[in-house]
Amino acid sequence: MLDTGISFMRSLCAGEIEEDVLFPYPTLSDDERETLTAVVDAVDAVLEGRAEDFRSWDVAGEMPSDFIQELREFGLFGLVIPEAHGGMNFGSMAYSRTVQQVARHDASVAVTVGAHSSIGMRGLKLYGTREQQERYYPALASGEMIAAFCLTEAEAGSDAASIKTRADEKDDHFLLNGSKIWVTNGGIADFFTVFAKTGDAEARSKLSALIVTRDMPGVSVGAHEDKMGIRASSTCTVYFEDVKVPKENLLGPRHGGFKVAMNILNNGRSGLAGGCVGGMKTLIALAAKHATERHQFGQPIGSFGLIEQKIGHMVVDCYATESAVGVIAALADRGYDDFSIEAAITKVFASEALWRSADEALQIAGGTGFMREYRYERVVRDCRINRIYEGANEVLRLFIALSALNDVGQRLKDMAGSLRGIFDDPIKGFGVLYEYAKQRATWATGVPVGNPRMSKAHVALRVEAEIFEDTARDLAAMTDRLLRKHGKGIIGKQFATRRLADVMIDLFVLGCVISRVTAAIEANGQDGAAEEIEIAKVFAGQAVGRAKRNFRKIDDNDDELVKHLAESTYERGGYGWDVL
Ligand SMILES: Cc1cc2nc3c(=O)[nH]c(=O)nc-3n(C[C@H](O)[C@H](O)[C@H](O)COP(=O)(O)OP(=O)(O)OC[C@H]3O[C@@H](n4cnc5c(N)ncnc54)[C@H](O)[C@@H]3O)c2cc1C
Repeated sequence: MLDTGISFMRSLCAGEIEEDVLFPYPTLSDDERETLTAVVDAVDAVLEGRAEDFRSWDVAGEMPSDFIQELREFGLFGLVIPEAHGGMNFGSMAYSRTVQQVARHDASVAVTVGAHSSIGMRGLKLYGTREQQERYYPALASGEMIAAFCLTEAEAGSDAASIKTRADEKDDHFLLNGSKIWVTNGGIADFFTVFAKTGDAEARSKLSALIVTRDMPGVSVGAHEDKMGIRASSTCTVYFEDVKVPKENLLGPRHGGFKVAMNILNNGRSGLAGGCVGGMKTLIALAAKHATERHQFGQPIGSFGLIEQKIGHMVVDCYATESAVGVIAALADRGYDDFSIEAAITKVFASEALWRSADEALQIAGGTGFMREYRYERVVRDCRINRIYEGANEVLRLFIALSALNDVGQRLKDMAGSLRGIFDDPIKGFGVLYEYAKQRATWATGVPVGNPRMSKAHVALRVEAEIFEDTARDLAAMTDRLLRKHGKGIIGKQFATRRLADVMIDLFVLGCVISRVTAAIEANGQDGAAEEIEIAKVFAGQAVGRAKRNFRKIDDNDDELVKHLAESTYERGGYGWDVL
């Protein structure tokens, strides 16, 4: 029986490895696999051989409407909508895999399809009433209505709670006024999930989500943005001027819109990260082809160690990302209550792994990579956005680390509460004290008494599992140490929280890799899974190396010097040491 109330990472920061969340590595049912295979093949059939189109749409900065019609006819807008309403009813695993396949061909197409299902109509799926779903699902499934997510404003990006768009309650409707910038699908959408203030202007938290449709008087759309990447996908400002939104279009709880927005983004992350995996697979194929075909110094460049190192790391990055995406998608499908930290980790890791891969693939291609005739430079431009939207990676790192610190802080507070009552209830009090002292002694000395254990990893991965266990123990100690050192002030210590987040990112992804490789060994034997074991070894080595550096830097760092340099640069308005 699954305990869907557990969060793997929250538990890990408190020193517990909840293995059942990661093991066994999730797989699709036979039925789901069969349907997915057919869809993946069909995606290839629709998008294969269109490379020239994708290139010219990137140059033009627009996707032709007859191609969007093809996407509609193919059913790509109905992926997550129930079959009864004309969709394919894909869960997150199958959905993410489909976005991956689209992204292998073109990022702009993947973003168009993904923004619809991952965020545009996700609120309707998560929070819609039966009546709202019955009203909109059929048109959204057929793509007659394309969906968009409207949160960001000119003055409210990462600080989404500071939006100014207002929805004032009048009789039977909300009167909506404001504008949203950089809305993906803005120019082609008919269904908008809009976030607006419904409380006092000063009350940051009182937002509500509303369903707004293009046909409502007062809705208008600005020009198509001229972007660096994903140029063919539509990005526009959407204006709302005295739009009367019927009260029955309230999505989720009144004043509960901030949570609705965060949950939508959280649930949509397997789509974005799945797209990153697709991008990486394409880059690996392109880079491997170039590395074996291009000769210099009388040899294929792929025979040089420095090129092999890049390709090998691209493969490890891709496998690691895919492993994490599989886990978070399954957590969503199994109905886990809270996988927000794991989903944020996967978004950060995926977007950065794709960025590394794009950069390295272009480097392998040399000057060819710089020419617009080839795909490399477009992939570099296209993939840059993933680190910015749907939660900028800096802000997600803060979320990852501070959520864990908050939980551990709460536990320590509860424990301190129990300790205060030690003389009232000595038995309970001593029990708590003993447990905590034992745990702290373990963290401090590294003696594996009560060390967290990853017992479900295959024995062939014992070294990697031990790396996980030891790093998990050190992570718990790091969390405890940071809280003791900074107390509540940790919120302002971003250099430190970044290190904690980075260790958490590496650990979660390593856990996912170990689980997946364990499943591969169980299915194919150690020989059959030999390369996957190699991947696990390389990733574990990378992860522990980074983690050790981060642990060392808790106390021994140059944070204050770096901070001072930034502050003096702000004051001066730039660099201060021109030679001339
Ligand atoms: C192509 C494109 C498509 C988009 N699609 C949509 C969409 O469909 N719907 C939608 O609502 N929005 C969309 N956005 C907006 C996107 O989500 C925002 O750009 C993003 O949330 C970041 O906000 P910002 O650009 O205002 O950056 P800012 O919030 O100003 O951040 C700037 C920098 O400061 C960092 N930063 C901010 N706060 C902190 C902090 N507390 N600590 C440390 N660092 C911090 C950020 O990480 C970032 O590096 C899109 C943007 C683009 C470019």
